[in-house]
Amino acid sequence: MKRGWRRAALALALGTSCGRAAACDTGAFGVALDIGHYRAAPGAVSATGVAEFDYNLALARQVLSALQRAGFARAFLIGESGVPLMLADRTRIAAQADARLFLSLHHDSVQPHYLSEWLVAGKPQRYSDLYRGYAIFVSAKSAQASRSIEFARLLGTYLRAQGLTPSLYHAEAIPGENRPLLDARLGIHRFDDLAVLRTATMPAVLLESGVIVNRQEEMAAADGSRGRHVAQAVTAAVTGMCGSMTDGRAQRTVPPR
Ligand SMILES: [Zn+2]
Repeated sequence: MKRGWRRAALALALGTSCGRAAACDTGAFGVALDIGHYRAAPGAVSATGVAEFDYNLALARQVLSALQRAGFARAFLIGESGVPLMLADRTRIAAQADARLFLSLHHDSVQPHYLSEWLVAGKPQRYSDLYRGYAIFVSAKSAQASRSIEFARLLGTYLRAQGLTPSLYHAEAIPGENRPLLDARLGIHRFDDLAVLRTATMPAVLLESGVIVNRQEEMAAADGSRGRHVAQAVTAAVTGMCGSMTDGRAQRTVPPR
């Protein structure tokens, strides 16, 4: 009941009313889900020693099924096999498949000086429970910067509606971070030279869906509970973008008077 009301209020606030959503042809709207990293260079290492790539892959599969259930038959994964895939290749694959949106899925670590050591099955691993939450990145240098920000705002809004909160430590004024915040409440950062966003020809967003060096957030990533919330939020944001971009396309085809 409460959830239904919340969804209706959100739809109104975001301008994605039923009428607009109906304009969206979900079956024709391609969505590229990029799985961050690859097996030989698998990204961050979690609090229990699991590679980020494994969590990215599991999350991408959850998001893909949620999108397919919502009718997005042309949603697809990039990097599923785990073979090395350069960043520009990922956006090229997306463009060749005529993806209308590009979402790169990752999990986060923190700066090394925040990490402490503990033993997991007798092996030392590194963790930090200081930070938690998601982070969204967009590039102002991407071909579709304003649409990318629109996608980021929808995603942040729906992630918050799922009860997730943003981690804001990427905005800390320290070397390696210092990413300007476009929207603190929604956890949106600007990262212009992030290659996978800069080279995208369609609206593109990178999501750090949670902090896997945080022991609690890793558990939620491992049992799929966090992924379910993220998958619902992504599906709602993609639906919103599909409606908005369909409207935009329709407007552009109206001949000038
Ligand atoms: Zn990553």
